[in-house]
Amino acid sequence: MCNAKLEPYDPATLALRLDAVCARIRTAERVAGRPPGSVALIAISKTFPPEAVAAVARAGQRAFGESYVQEAVDKIARLRSMPGTGPLQWHFIGPIQSNKTRPIAEHFDWVQSVDRIRIAQRLAAQRPADRAPLQALIEVNISGEASKGGVAPSEVAGLAQEIVRLPGLRLRGLMAIPAPGLPPAGQRAAFGRLRALQKELRAALDGPSAAGIDTLSMGMSGDFETAIAEGATMVRIGTAIFGERA
Ligand SMILES: *Cc1c(COP(=O)(O)O)cnc(C)c1O
Repeated sequence: MCNAKLEPYDPATLALRLDAVCARIRTAERVAGRPPGSVALIAISKTFPPEAVAAVARAGQRAFGESYVQEAVDKIARLRSMPGTGPLQWHFIGPIQSNKTRPIAEHFDWVQSVDRIRIAQRLAAQRPADRAPLQALIEVNISGEASKGGVAPSEVAGLAQEIVRLPGLRLRGLMAIPAPGLPPAGQRAAFGRLRALQKELRAALDGPSAAGIDTLSMGMSGDFETAIAEGATMVRIGTAIFGERA
């Protein structure tokens, strides 16, 4: 008990929490009448050390999300040299400054927080030619919060029409973080709005681009079952796996 502070990074504890989250995802899929495996789990490892990520990777998790560029680049490099962690898929989910696009383009598989064309153009131009296109989501400010990143719902289709023309990026769908503290009905309404926007987006794009829109990234530790009920195909979960962030 002297080491209670280390408990969150205990590999057995992390593996149990990962299993519990996966079981809750499977249950939510079933309750929503959706096929098992239709929701992908992204484990959000921001602020947690490489050892914690390695433990979760060894327990079978492959996709991780990070919000801070330098922290992420260091962690991605460390994980590559840690045995038993397998090839991992990395998602960038944080705000993007234009002077930080290059490391994102070079080190990530997905970027979920694209909210302006200038950033998309830089990411596309800086994506190394020997890597698969960077899989991209447009972040939507779904609750209309003044202080939050993300495009307004009315701007999604226009931005998407420009992004699909960029080689080096592949537009896959939408991401949103509803305003914190909403009651369950408000959360559910926000997730429903994102799903409706995705449908409108498909209608606004040409056939091949529309067919590529298959991802709705919504739902975090506190609300992912609601998001799955509203059609999430990707949930981003940190706290329920890694514990509280400092
Ligand atoms: C931190 C973060 C998460 C994870 O939140 P938890 O409540 O810890 O599950 C999900 N999405 C984004 C964009 C984040 O920044």
